[in-house]
Parts: sequence; C-alpha cells; structure tokens
Amino acid sequence: MLKGKSTIVTGSSSGIGLGVARAFTAQGADILLNGFGDVAQIAMTRSGLEDEYGVRVRYSGTDMSRPAEIRGLVDYACDEFGKVDVLVNNAGIQHVSPVEEMPDEKRDEILAIDLSSAFHLIKAVIPGMKARRWGRISNIASAHGLVASPFKTAYVVAKHGLIGLSKTVALEVAEHGITSNTVCPGYVKTPLVEQQIADQARAHKITPADVVRDVMLVHQARKALARIEELAALAVFLASDNAASMTAAALAMDGGWTQH
Ligand code: NAD
Repeated sequence: MLKGKSTIVTGSSSGIGLGVARAFTAQGADILLNGFGDVAQIAMTRSGLEDEYGVRVRYSGTDMSRPAEIRGLVDYACDEFGKVDVLVNNAGIQHVSPVEEMPDEKRDEILAIDLSSAFHLIKAVIPGMKARRWGRISNIASAHGLVASPFKTAYVVAKHGLIGLSKTVALEVAEHGITSNTVCPGYVKTPLVEQQIADQARAHKITPADVVRDVMLVHQARKALARIEELAALAVFLASDNAASMTAAALAMDGGWTQH
C-alpha cells in the first residue's frame, strides 16, 4: 500500500513509533528511524526490517529538542530517499508534577519535543510535498490533546497545541494533495506502560489487572490498553490514498475516555 513512500517517524526507536515504523515497512515504505537508545539494538532493528521487507531503513539520532538540528533530519531523508512523502511526528516525553513544582527546564523540554519539533519538521517537509502535490502528516498527540488531567501542565499544553498545529497546517495545504491529522491515544500497551503497571501493582499491593482497570483506565469505557498495532494500523491508513479526504481530524483511539 505504501510502496516507495519515503517516511520519517520521529521517536521510533521504541514504543508506538517503532510499531508505526514496522507497519510502514511491512507496507513497502522506506523509513528514516529516529530516537534514542542502544545503538547496536537500533542497528539490528534497522537491518532486520530491511531484510524482512526489502525496503530501505536508515537511522538518525537527531535530538527533537534542538531546532537547529531538526532541518538536518529532513535533509538526510532527502539525501537517502530523494524525498519525504510521509511525516509521523511521534517523539514525546512526559513529566508529572503540580504546576507550582514543575521545573521550568522540564516544561521547556516537553514543549520543544512534543510540540515545537513537529512545527520545525512540518515546515521543512511541506515545500517538497507541495512540489510533488502529495503528502501525509500524522501527529501522535494523546487523549490529553482533547482533555486535561491534573499535574500535566506541560504535556497537556503541548498535546493540545499539536492538534491546533495539525489543523492549521491541514487548512493551509489542503489544495496541494497534503493531509495533516492527529491521533489521540488513551493508554497504549508499550514496554514503558507495562513497566508502570508492574511498579504500581507492587507499590499498591494489587494485581496488574486491577492497576489497569481501577487506576489507569478509570476514565476509559473500554477497560483495556490499546495495542501498538492498533495505532500503527491507523497511521498506515492515514498515509494511504484512501485517506485523501481525512484531514484536520483529531482521531481519538482512547476506549471512549474523551466522550464522557
Ligand atoms: P516511548 O518512550 O516508548 O517512545 C518515545 C520515543 O521518543 C523513543 O523512541 C525516544 O527515544 C524518543 N525520544 C524521546 N526524546 C527524544 C528527543 N529529544 N529526540 C528524539 N527522540 C526522542 O513512548 P511511547 O509511549 O511510544 O510514546 C510515543 C508517543 O505517543 C508520545 O508522543 C506519547 O506522548 C504518545 N502517547 C503515548 C501513550 C501511551 O500510553 N504509551 C498514550 C498517549 C500518547
């Protein structure tokens, strides 16, 4: 479905981003991976995907908190693949703290990675997409792009902003064959979240199933974590020709959380 589509997925060394990258390569896309992590592990992932799907997979450790370096990520994708057809802005971090104790530098870092990096990348890829009259931009926000929770001042602001950014860009580029959408997951079963479940179960002396149902998913109607594959399948659809009319959307995949 995505054969020959050159794709950047930020924050794709683990979790949702890696799942999206896998799903894209399975559909024939060339991928530029990004994110931090064990270099040998990332190299193995890269060559594993290339061997399995016969596509080109490259990696850049560009730090999404550094605007001056972000343009280089797009230049690298263009050097390697000749173009960028699809951009998935996924890199994100979180910090939970009462507003009066939120460290200034942590807030700035969250806004830089979770929001501003998407702006800088979109700005860099749009001219090429316009020239080819085709492009797909997907932004991985969160249910926290649609509703707030206490103690997440930076994260909620960044994710709400990401939806605003995506909608504004969508309106600007709609007549150029380019779409821009936001995906808003509730809790997703990533290695990090699985670790949190195990930690909370130990701390509260309850079962992991109780942590999921009674603590994490207290706001969700569906009491199950989304699988990474569900998010990845939605990202694949958004990048397809059949998603041509879907633009400026904020798509909740949150088990009903934000519809209360
Ligand atoms: P994760 O921690 O497993 O992955 C985050 C990725 O971002 C990693 O590859 C990491 O190396 C990368 N990253 C972090 N800082 C970076 C930086 N400065 N520059 C470049 N890369 C950087 O997290 P995840 O759960 O897979 O989350 C992915 C996205 O999905 C995030 O934007 C997150 O807010 C969002 N999200 C996750 C969940 C969930 O339940 N897991 C729910 C809603 C939204």
